[in-house]
Amino acid sequence: MAKSNSPHSPMRRRLLKMGAGAGLLSSVPVTSAFARQQTRARIVIIGAGAAGLAIASRLHNALSGATITLVGARQSHWYQPGLTLVASGLWSMDRVVTQTRDWVPADVRWIEADAAGFNPDNRQVSLTNNETLDYDLLVIATGCQLNYDEIDGMSAALIGQQGIGSVYAGPEAARATDNAIEGLIAQGEGRAIFTLAPTPIKCAGAPLKMTFTTLSRLEDTGIRERFDVDFFTPFRQRVFSVPVYNDFVLERWQAQQVGLYDERRLVAIDAAAKTALFRHASGATEQQSFDFIHVVPPMSAPDAVRHSELAWQDGAMAGEWLETDQYTLQHRRYPEIFGIGDVIGTPFGKTAASVKKQAPVLEENILSFLAGQPLQARYNGYTSCPLITSIGRAVLAEFGYGGELMPSFPFISPTEESWAVWVMKEKMLQPAYYAMLNGRV
Ligand SMILES: Cc1cc2nc3c(=O)[nH]c(=O)nc-3n(C[C@H](O)[C@H](O)[C@H](O)COP(=O)(O)OP(=O)(O)OC[C@H]3O[C@@H](n4cnc5c(N)ncnc54)[C@H](O)[C@@H]3O)c2cc1C
Repeated sequence: MAKSNSPHSPMRRRLLKMGAGAGLLSSVPVTSAFARQQTRARIVIIGAGAAGLAIASRLHNALSGATITLVGARQSHWYQPGLTLVASGLWSMDRVVTQTRDWVPADVRWIEADAAGFNPDNRQVSLTNNETLDYDLLVIATGCQLNYDEIDGMSAALIGQQGIGSVYAGPEAARATDNAIEGLIAQGEGRAIFTLAPTPIKCAGAPLKMTFTTLSRLEDTGIRERFDVDFFTPFRQRVFSVPVYNDFVLERWQAQQVGLYDERRLVAIDAAAKTALFRHASGATEQQSFDFIHVVPPMSAPDAVRHSELAWQDGAMAGEWLETDQYTLQHRRYPEIFGIGDVIGTPFGKTAASVKKQAPVLEENILSFLAGQPLQARYNGYTSCPLITSIGRAVLAEFGYGGELMPSFPFISPTEESWAVWVMKEKMLQPAYYAMLNGRV
């Protein structure tokens, strides 16, 4: 027989429901500060990045009586949408770094360790500090893991050396990438290679943005013709998943003399020789030399998630990403587990703008779950990415599941580049992002 405090105990479930129900005035979960939903649930959130902090703030504001624990070892918080600006020489590194502790809401316990393993049948998470946490409700918000080691000879430590750049590995890497591009420019000639990973990646626009801003910098030298710029994609004539933006980019690159090498995946780098090995879809390999290379690592959920029961068990995302219902954000096999942000294995674009749309959906569904009600909120796959097309101009790509365009502003064309979108990217998105961390938008 289940003990009264065991996670599966009917009594515990009844207690949770009673606690939840006490604050409810209607069947719709109430999130106002004046009518917080009552619960005694132990909520554990794994990952203290954009998504983990946003949902911690929202649940902290919406619930009364819950024990909320946030798990994540990283002490500094990175405003990752600013990394392309750092790597393009436009922002200093300190503009994208804040402290995680400054975003953790009062009354939320923050454990500065990572999740090491999950035991969903017992509703337990083990941590890298050897602690084990029991939960009634678990939120997975661990973001992406950068798998540089899947490229032979490559590691994050090489970023900034031998002309190797990669915007993804954090502020230092972004600054080192900028230095490597400066090195190419100072050389007065040479070949820049830009790559794309064969997996889903966070901010799918970032590799394109890095190409465009580097082109701007090379054009500004007045000797653009002395540089070769080539883009290698694992996909057939595709560098972005939404056709209208893909066509736009490919046409623009043709006009800017960017060589497109498709169906080629980066498999190895020889840093000392400054060569990169690509495998063609046919299986053949070819070596390419570079003076600068922008490496986009294959990405997956962090090992603790992808090697656990929580990952998809079959299909294209098996063993790679968190198994989640793409609309409710609830785990498909463990109803008391939810996912948010880059880690979820659904066909959406992995951006902070997606997190902003997911957070209220997840909050509503968690409140419903705690109240024993059906989950009614739906995430539509919304993704937004100000696709920088040159320094000073950008296109606001907004789309949902299936690539459906979802423009938000009547005065901004979803397919035309403008200075206004650049200003939005450069000046307005960061305050909106920080408001999201506070649970305010
Ligand atoms: C170069 C670049 C440019 C981008 N540009 C844009 C843009 O223009 N617009 C936009 O909207 N988005 C952009 N993004 C994407 C955006 O930053 C992410 O989509 C967003 O940060 C996702 O939030 P997250 O919480 O899922 O992941 P993250 O913010 O990465 O946070 C995940 C957290 O989980 C932690 N973690 C990892 N493993 C564990 C573990 N085992 N246990 C506990 N914690 C763990 C990590 O340390 C991290 O703190 C960009 C990203 C990059 C890298």
